[in-house]
Amino acid sequence: MLRTYGLALGHSFTVKGRGRPAFKSRKKVLPSLGYTTRGFCIRERRLVLPKGVTIPVVWSRDLPSDPTSVRVYQDSLGHWYASFVVRRDTEPAPDADPDSGLGIDWGVSTTATATDSAYDLPSLGHRKRCAAELAKAQRKMARRHNGKRGPQTGGYVRARRAAATLHKKATRQTRHDSRVWAKRVVDHHDLIAVEDFKPTFLAKSTMARKAADAAVGAAKQELIERGRRAGRRVVLVRPWYTTMTCSSCFARAKQRLELSERTFRCTACGFTAGRDWNAARVILAVAERGHTSVDDVRHVRPSSGLVVCAV
Ligand SMILES: [Zn+2]
Repeated sequence: MLRTYGLALGHSFTVKGRGRPAFKSRKKVLPSLGYTTRGFCIRERRLVLPKGVTIPVVWSRDLPSDPTSVRVYQDSLGHWYASFVVRRDTEPAPDADPDSGLGIDWGVSTTATATDSAYDLPSLGHRKRCAAELAKAQRKMARRHNGKRGPQTGGYVRARRAAATLHKKATRQTRHDSRVWAKRVVDHHDLIAVEDFKPTFLAKSTMARKAADAAVGAAKQELIERGRRAGRRVVLVRPWYTTMTCSSCFARAKQRLELSERTFRCTACGFTAGRDWNAARVILAVAERGHTSVDDVRHVRPSSGLVVCAV
């Protein structure tokens, strides 16, 4: 179904539908418009959209090449943004030692545990504080919500805006931290082995847990993008068994470690280490052998009693 979009200047904005009436969700969907090469252009640093609509843009940075598409969207605070898709050359990072590999395990108490502790990414205090403030703001929203009866009150709308502002602030801080960290990791390592962790975002999880998951998601994305752009070897390792495998002899423990158990002890060789650090070492070892899963690395124990890792 084709639709025509009218884009007004300033903050008001109408979307005129054509054809059959579309399903209208009760939940407010934020508007977002996409244009490809022929639908828009940039003239005198202004964005020109079809039907002669010209929008002044506050540029966050200069575009490195002509954009191929643009998405104009509104965020939860009512601010409008335009994001452009551009072609980007690889940015060669400083020469890293060719044998320098870093393994990374994600977690809640420490966002990223690296094989080299100088590259750990701690869960920062401000993130926790943000989570607490956000939880408070959301309780306020819930308290002021007037059920299904008609439109919400001004008090509710103000509370929702306050929550959205806090959320945005937390997201920005997290993104900034992950960018600084990812740059440091990419600059100094040739091989980057990353646990391919996928946050679950369970409905019942706590605010702190959600904040931790968001921090992992942001850090992982920054690291992968930056690493690939710099031409580094970025390997995603499946998270299965990484916490149950010994990074020294590759024997697998029979039982899963309890989440509260922070120390890994190998029953086969006696190797003892911090749980997350051991997992980071396993992740690096798997990537160094050219694999993406612990299962692909066989553990061989010859009769002589020597412990050997085979691939
Ligand atoms: Zn062992």
